[in-house]
Order: sequence, then structure tokens, then C-alpha cells
Amino acid sequence: MKMLGKIIIDTERCKGCGLCVTVCPKGRIIISKRSNKSGYFPAEPAGPPMADCTGCAMCAIICPEAVIEVYRDENTVGGPSKKDRPILVKDK
Ligand code: SF4
Ligand code: SF4
Repeated sequence: MKMLGKIIIDTERCKGCGLCVTVCPKGRIIISKRSNKSGYFPAEPAGPPMADCTGCAMCAIICPEAVIEVYRDENTVGGPSKKDRPILVKDK
């Protein structure tokens, strides 16, 4: 069974601590080379498409700033033809 995940990071509120980068089992998060308005270098998804993101939500759980939203598409089991209906896993 294959589940696809997707994350959205609020880069302006990210402090660039890098914890999410270290916990992602798929290596799907990197630290940006561009700073945000607060002067931090924020985390960002490691380039689209996030094909390997499982939606495990480890990144959102570890984030001390609670700026990561995780969406998981439970309907990708049968392939992309299934109705795309992402589900918000965690919204702290
Ligand atoms: S949800 Fe899991 S796989 Fe996806 S970016 Fe976060 S830690 Fe990585
Ligand atoms: S854990 Fe949160 S604050 Fe730290 S780099 Fe990742 S998104 Fe930014």
C-alpha cells in the first residue's frame, strides 16, 4: 500500500533549526539558501515533486515552531486515477 504525503512549511515563521531535516526518514526537507524576513534560513521541501514523502508527520511533530502542515492522500493506493483528496494530518 502506497501513501503519498505532502508538506507545507510556513517559511516566514520557520527558525531554521533543522530538526525537521534530521528526522525526515525520506530526506525530503532541506534548508533554504535564501533567508526569510526574520533572517533565518528556513526549511523547505526538497524540490518538487515530493514523491517520497509518506505523510508520516515526523517533521511536523518535531518542529518546535509548529509551522509544518502535513497532508496525506489516502486515495493513492490504487494509483493516480483515484480521486485526489488530500487529508490534513496535523495542524498545530
Ligand atoms: S511527512 Fe514524513 S516523509 Fe514527509 S517530509 Fe515530513 S518527515 Fe519527511
Ligand atoms: S523544525 Fe520547524 S522551525 Fe525547525 S527548521 Fe524545520 S520547519 Fe523550521
